Amino acid sequence: MIITNKMGLPQAFVEMAKRDYALAPDEYRATSLLKGIREAILERRHGTEIESDVSDMIWLLFGTAVHGILEHHKEADEEIKEARLKIPIAGKTLSGQFDLYNAETLTITDYKTASVWKIIFGNFGDWKRQLLIYAYMLQRIGFEVKRGEIVAILKDHSKRDAKIKPDYPLLPVKKVTFDFTAEDFSATEKWLVDRLTAITEAEKLPDDELPLCTPEERYNSGDKHAVMRNGRKTALRVLDSEEEAKNWMLENGGDFIEVRPGEDKKCAEYCNACKFCNYYRDHVKGA
Ligand code: SF4
Repeated sequence: MIITNKMGLPQAFVEMAKRDYALAPDEYRATSLLKGIREAILERRHGTEIESDVSDMIWLLFGTAVHGILEHHKEADEEIKEARLKIPIAGKTLSGQFDLYNAETLTITDYKTASVWKIIFGNFGDWKRQLLIYAYMLQRIGFEVKRGEIVAILKDHSKRDAKIKPDYPLLPVKKVTFDFTAEDFSATEKWLVDRLTAITEAEKLPDDELPLCTPEERYNSGDKHAVMRNGRKTALRVLDSEEEAKNWMLENGGDFIEVRPGEDKKCAEYCNACKFCNYYRDHVKGA
């Protein structure tokens, strides 16, 4: 990755941004598998051409800094910290670095910096999958894992909101825990084999023919259905589904339904590989 420093931030920021683990051929990180296949492959293929400015990587660097500080403090006797694992699976090497494993409680822990909204919405599927991948890898090398936990540091927490809003996290740190079952492990193994097999197939394709990231992987906000009236520019009402819009129109009037495509937030703001993606060029950039 080419790191730029347009704001002229101190060199330490640049050095931190440059710190990266070099992947071997055919090696994929656990975190890459959580992205769309297209994004994961484009990032690998164009890794040396992708440009990022340190000022744009501040929250990523903040996360790295938190890990760096915790990494330098002593773990308890029964704990293993910050170990990088590698296992062969589906013709590839899967690598992953977990933050902490406790051999007494059989718990794997990962530290995250997150927004309070992640906690409020309670959408933890990606966190559970990531922990399960690490847990599966640990099991493969002989360590038992029964549960996982995320220690989330909430970077945008407001003490004031915590006092007045119901459902708002009370503290700027939150522990989210998951119990793992035998079914979780077999489902994870199947998911990894399917994912890596699909990546192997997709690697044969040129950039523009790679399977498109799913709406979920693109953080698509979902199409909206606007009930419109002839001759009027603004919607009478905007609803999430066509059915809701039709029902509303039957009860309240309106002449037609206009579909407003959802926004691909990942493509627009968070995808490092967007410059090499024809979907971004054709549908997102300048849309
Ligand atoms: S720009 Fe969007 S569709 Fe293209 S690789 Fe990135 S996330 Fe996927």
